[in-house]
Amino acid sequence: MTTLPTGLRAARDLLRQMHRTVAEARDQVVTNDPRPTHTAETVPIALVPRHHARLRQTAARRHAMLAQHIGALLAAMRQTGPEQDDGYIEQPTLLNTAETRVVSAVCSACKGACCTAGREQAFLRVRTMREYAAAHPLLTDDEIVQAYLAYLPERALHPGCVYQGARGCTLPRDMRSAICNRYLCTGLQQAVDAATPETVGVFVAHRDGVKVSGGRLRALPVLG
Ligand code: SF4
Ligand code: SF4
Repeated sequence: MTTLPTGLRAARDLLRQMHRTVAEARDQVVTNDPRPTHTAETVPIALVPRHHARLRQTAARRHAMLAQHIGALLAAMRQTGPEQDDGYIEQPTLLNTAETRVVSAVCSACKGACCTAGREQAFLRVRTMREYAAAHPLLTDDEIVQAYLAYLPERALHPGCVYQGARGCTLPRDMRSAICNRYLCTGLQQAVDAATPETVGVFVAHRDGVKVSGGRLRALPVLG
């Protein structure tokens, strides 16, 4: 059995080695690609996890749990002021067009490993509800609950967040929690940092313990 290295230095060395492996695989792919637009500079690498979940019909019980959670958040929102909201992670990460396309390509390849813990609560908080209610002042609390339920996919990844559909998160960005709009894992952050207007794709590989798997060139999606 392969074991993880112990110690910070060993872990760092291993990560560097994994990045080298992915970069070499990327170099080989772009060298063999006849398109002159595809070079090591225009195809950054991303070494990210991969969510091993299956798409399944979501049980009605899970939707009911989400509705109950949102109802409780709205009730708390009505009894408190914004100064009492959780201030942790204030702002969404600001991304330009190239960076947004990179995030979309990489996270869809990963299938949302970091979303797994969302389960029936989707990381929604009182603060999320307060912002949504302020942007939609004519909606009653029941209508807000219904607005959230309307975006649930029929089939979601299990185990995972109720909003993890076949093509990623089905909840619009302005309805998600700040953490959902903020978080970029280390591997994705590196790819985003390397993105430029000339970026044509991302070479995405997955890490599983000490192993690297699945290196593949992913084209950037066209954003609507
Ligand atoms: S942020 Fe990282 S872990 Fe989360 S879905 Fe995107 S690639 Fe996967
Ligand atoms: S709401 Fe969307 S982004 Fe947030 S955890 Fe669920 S699937 Fe992921």
